[in-house]
Amino acid sequence: MKTISSPAIILKKIEYGDSDLIITFFTLNHGKITAIAKYAKKSKKRFASVLEPFGELNIVMTSGRNKELLILTEAQLSHSFTEIKKNILKTAYASYWTEIINKSIENSVTEKQIYALFYKLLNLIDKNIISETAANIIFQIRFANIVGIKPDLKNCCLCKREINGVKGEKLFFDIEKGAIVCEACNGGDKKNIPLFKGTIKQLLWVQDKEIEKALKIKFTEYCLRQATDFMERFIGYYVAKEFKSLKFLKEIG
Ligand SMILES: [Zn+2]
Repeated sequence: MKTISSPAIILKKIEYGDSDLIITFFTLNHGKITAIAKYAKKSKKRFASVLEPFGELNIVMTSGRNKELLILTEAQLSHSFTEIKKNILKTAYASYWTEIINKSIENSVTEKQIYALFYKLLNLIDKNIISETAANIIFQIRFANIVGIKPDLKNCCLCKREINGVKGEKLFFDIEKGAIVCEACNGGDKKNIPLFKGTIKQLLWVQDKEIEKALKIKFTEYCLRQATDFMERFIGYYVAKEFKSLKFLKEIG
């Protein structure tokens, strides 16, 4: 019998039969793992209501007779993001990040960098240390770095000029190429996403700096809007077609 223990955050929870829950955890030590929590629905005592999103748990799972599905045997809350749970906007952002992670990582592959990024940003919006919108841009761009879909923001991918050396403020992003195109190279192409030089510079800052420096960013209002729109389209293109939680964010935002 195999036993696994790890800090974990819930990614997804579904009801199974009358009394059980099937839960997908993002674990620090073993990546994404799905387990069954028997009698969790019926008996509140069993897991003392800790099987809720936006908390970090310490969990223990063992393999049952059916080796495919692990059985959750212990779950203790180690950290609760109480402000996220109380605030619908914070919940919506946290749900969006949860969905990005759930849709893009493989089962049982350890992803400590993603776990650390996720935990850190949940903690920062929970404590009101940075705005949800800035946190959202930082989460998405750094997530893209870690999973190897880093958008190339330094040079025009056609003429190879550095963005600082390009005339004018207006540049574009070719989502299929995953790279910048300058105005001269873009011509009249309407499919590329317009991005101002100022926005690109702010994105580069949060993309490449050490996380503590990146977190000090003060987005200008316009760049914030442009960068938000850009990152959501970029992540949507590379990670999943459409996010339920993003739709919800748009409805309440
Ligand atoms: Zn160019």
